[in-house]
Amino acid sequence: MAKQVPGKVDMDKLVSLCKRRGYIFPSSEIYGGLGACYDYGPLGVELKNNVKAAWWKSVVQERDDMVGLDASILMHQQTWIASGHTNGFADPLVDCRQCHKRWRADDVNDGKCPDCGGELTEPRMFNLMFKTFVGPVEDEAAVVYLRPETAQGIFVNFQNVLATTRSKLPFGIAQIGKAFRNEITTGNFIFRTREFEQMEIEYFVKPGTDEEWFQRWVEERLNWYVSLGIRKENLRLHQHTEDELAHYARACSDIEYLFPIGWAELEGIANRTDFDLRQHASFSGKDLSYYDEESKEHIIPYVIEPSAGVDRSVLAFLADSYGEEQDKDEIRVVLRLHPALAPIKVAVLPLSRNEKLKPLSEDVYNSLRPCWMVQYDDAQSIGRRYRRQDEIGTPFCVTIDFQSLEDNQVTIRERDGMKQIRLPIDGLKATLDAKLGGEPIEVLPPGGSKWLGFEE
Ligand code: ATP
Repeated sequence: MAKQVPGKVDMDKLVSLCKRRGYIFPSSEIYGGLGACYDYGPLGVELKNNVKAAWWKSVVQERDDMVGLDASILMHQQTWIASGHTNGFADPLVDCRQCHKRWRADDVNDGKCPDCGGELTEPRMFNLMFKTFVGPVEDEAAVVYLRPETAQGIFVNFQNVLATTRSKLPFGIAQIGKAFRNEITTGNFIFRTREFEQMEIEYFVKPGTDEEWFQRWVEERLNWYVSLGIRKENLRLHQHTEDELAHYARACSDIEYLFPIGWAELEGIANRTDFDLRQHASFSGKDLSYYDEESKEHIIPYVIEPSAGVDRSVLAFLADSYGEEQDKDEIRVVLRLHPALAPIKVAVLPLSRNEKLKPLSEDVYNSLRPCWMVQYDDAQSIGRRYRRQDEIGTPFCVTIDFQSLEDNQVTIRERDGMKQIRLPIDGLKATLDAKLGGEPIEVLPPGGSKWLGFEE
């Protein structure tokens, strides 16, 4: 594992929590694992889906200038020639002459192998695209690549979307999907993997308005992370200098997050000018222009590309929400995930396994399941079950006790401050809805009261 930022959660701790609680497992673990590939477990898949849904909601559902797309992973070979990936999507690679490990040349500082100190070869370029074949004949004509980014699927569909939606500039296309890169140096858990998911936008604008839109998207995207609970002080912008910029890009800013391994890119936002549409128009021979009714001219739009990683976002949300605090003589581990991201929104916990509590507890559980991911747990002491829910980030627990059988009231216990309220069951759904939407726990529903709480 790489260096550790003091004060941040230890990466090993996060990896272990993810494994122990069913967030993330190493891929093909029973066979010894496969380098830099991970599987999302029962809680991980919920968190990941919630991250993607929150992104989609903010960039497609809540905007009238955006539409979605889901392009195939395998694309025509020419796509990658036009985009520049066939020749240019390569990293400089060096080999250690002693232990034969391979490194990305820009990850090695002093010209020596970081593992064994051995001498390194001269750098050579290594293409990061995974190659495979379509059809039964493995010849050059059948070569296809697993896409190394989702963006090109958007560019090649530019005219299709334009024609079917009659969108007017400025407008954007959003896509979420898998991307594959045969990364040389991996590690750091899900920060850099060989198979990952991206959330990408291509936002098409009139040339001349690109700089303004670039700034707007940088702000928009930065605010998205903050709105989902990432602390502002753990985010910063890194503006690319002239020599860091790709040859076609006019500007690029990375949103960086203070990961346990240090500051690193979470999302890149680039002003790609008209490079991609021009390239695809030229290689395909198709007209990829836009008819501007104002100027009565055909123009090639400029494009702003906010490109985020799903897995890196998941890692940032996990790292930022992880907390350990002293609680009596124990350490309470708590994932303070934003309610929109938490895999399980509500846990239904009968106070004990006593048979008498079962029917009402199950009724409550069944009434909440259509609304959210809800878990039912009646094993172990109530305190232990609260701790378990804290550790997986469940915002609220509903507890049914013997008094509930008499007065039809239950308690809600919140994760962050461990406060509790008691309320009539018929107001439970509406109250949970309000609390999940951000209403403070202290705000009492009709017939509700403060509750000192069960002994934790
Ligand atoms: P890096 O410099 O870290 O390799 P990049 O600049 O090549 O990243 P982009 O091509 O801009 O990355 O991809 C956009 C986003 O996709 C990144 O900000 C990151 O969140 C995600 N991403 C890229 N490569 C990987 C990977 N190997 N594993 C996980 N996420 C990745």
